[in-house]
Amino acid sequence: MLLLAVLSAHMAAACDERVRYALSPEVVGSTASLRVDVWFKGSPDGTTRLKSPEDGRDSAVIEDVRVDKPAKLEREGERRVVRHKPSAEVHLRYRVRSQDGDNDTHDVAGLIRKDYVHLVGAHAFIVPDLEGESVFELEWKAPGWTSADSFGAGGLTREVCTGADTFRHALYAAGKGLRLTELDVRGKPVWLATAGTWTFSDEKLGGALKGIFEAERAFWNDDDFPYYLVSLAPRTGSGWHGSAFTNSFGLWAKPDVELDADLLETFAHELFHAWNGGKIRKDDLEARMYWFSEGFTDYFTRLLLLRSGVFSLEDYVANVNKRLDAYHSSPSREEPNERIAKDFWNDMDVQYLPYRRGDVLALRWNAEIKRASKGRSSLDDAMHALLKASAEKGTQASPDSIRELFSPFSPAVSRDLDAVAEKGGLVEVPPDALGPCARMTLETPVAYELGFDYDGSWKDKVVRGVVKGSAAWKAGLRDGATLAGIDMVHGDPGREARFWIAEKGGKTKIAYLPARTIPGPKRPRFVLDEKRAQRDRARCLAWFGAKP
Ligand SMILES: [Zn+2]
Repeated sequence: MLLLAVLSAHMAAACDERVRYALSPEVVGSTASLRVDVWFKGSPDGTTRLKSPEDGRDSAVIEDVRVDKPAKLEREGERRVVRHKPSAEVHLRYRVRSQDGDNDTHDVAGLIRKDYVHLVGAHAFIVPDLEGESVFELEWKAPGWTSADSFGAGGLTREVCTGADTFRHALYAAGKGLRLTELDVRGKPVWLATAGTWTFSDEKLGGALKGIFEAERAFWNDDDFPYYLVSLAPRTGSGWHGSAFTNSFGLWAKPDVELDADLLETFAHELFHAWNGGKIRKDDLEARMYWFSEGFTDYFTRLLLLRSGVFSLEDYVANVNKRLDAYHSSPSREEPNERIAKDFWNDMDVQYLPYRRGDVLALRWNAEIKRASKGRSSLDDAMHALLKASAEKGTQASPDSIRELFSPFSPAVSRDLDAVAEKGGLVEVPPDALGPCARMTLETPVAYELGFDYDGSWKDKVVRGVVKGSAAWKAGLRDGATLAGIDMVHGDPGREARFWIAEKGGKTKIAYLPARTIPGPKRPRFVLDEKRAQRDRARCLAWFGAKP
């Protein structure tokens, strides 16, 4: 009895404060905006600090911030604070709109339209900086709309007991035409929220997502997700952007995007972060662990797409080759780990480095583990050991924890952690890294070089600027020749370029690979043994833990 009383007192204390949000879509002039009203009980000491969206690239536009009298809004350095009578009820209100009106190149920060709103909490909500957990209440004052967010789907009101940071690190969508689809993933609900017209149906996207969720949750043997939201927001800017939040994943895309392997790869990558970066944290080291949180996520994304049937064996090998090429041709491929921490946001090539390095390192460790265990273990098992330690002891992903938990599977781990992950040595790819049905070749590195002045030759079809000694030269192309036919792809050194030269009485064909060799060590590339892949497909796939 006593224990129960203490327990319920504790639970009440954890969530007895309420923070209420009313969200009212408005049109001011011709601009769609959202009026936000917030009510909360101020601190006993008379000052409540606020967490505001940072003004800048990622934030929606916050305007007309005010509080009801007698409370007063002030600045304390960079931060907004409210001064009020001790423990007084505070009513704060403001307006939020998209950056650049309705031109949403900054749409991740906040898409606010006349009949549709899509927000990230941290970029749009001012939140009182209260200790511990509070009840957050949310109400959309928008008749005829539907809402879905990180805490639930359907209806116009939500209530959740959580911390201020979790409330901010969350997605919020609502609209007149918001469509909700419930997917049953191994007995747990996943909701898909979409708006607008896409090149694919909600059912088609839902089916593909369900397959990816199932493969990933089966991989981790973890269904401890009472609720999950995938929110697809139509943007007018080109391309797409995906990000994971509390119980959710947001994808901002132009509605003409195709539901192809690239898009599904983005989904699978982000969903894998629910574990690598989510349940397995790296807080203490952050950028120094990107090779693991991003690179290993890329490795498993590809593997799980193979296991879920989105990738064929051919797709898998092509994806590995693309990654190996990118890694080996990167100018920063041998930079030490500290360079990643220092220049991740300053240098595009450095930003890609942890993805590439970690992915190739994972390929290597998996092959090493499989060889050492005669196929009984793989990198899967090392990852599972890390998740178990995270769940049981709060272990974070760090060089120390990975050394401790992965080394029993292969002695390569400890050496590579220092020589590669930290110091930046080149990852050596084992020839058996893709199992028995693909062999590794070592190729001399090449760069694209057509070998003559294409633009200068195009207008009157007379060849100009042939580079002496180039592949074009060696194939017989000379200045002054007349072009009668062209079949080539710009920028691809692996695709044969073909030209037909007009001559008296007919045409002759000149064909060559538009490439020149560049200095540096030979680069690994995998070639699928096609006969074997046909005959023993089940065995080829089984090596990856996949079924035909
Ligand atoms: Zn990522």
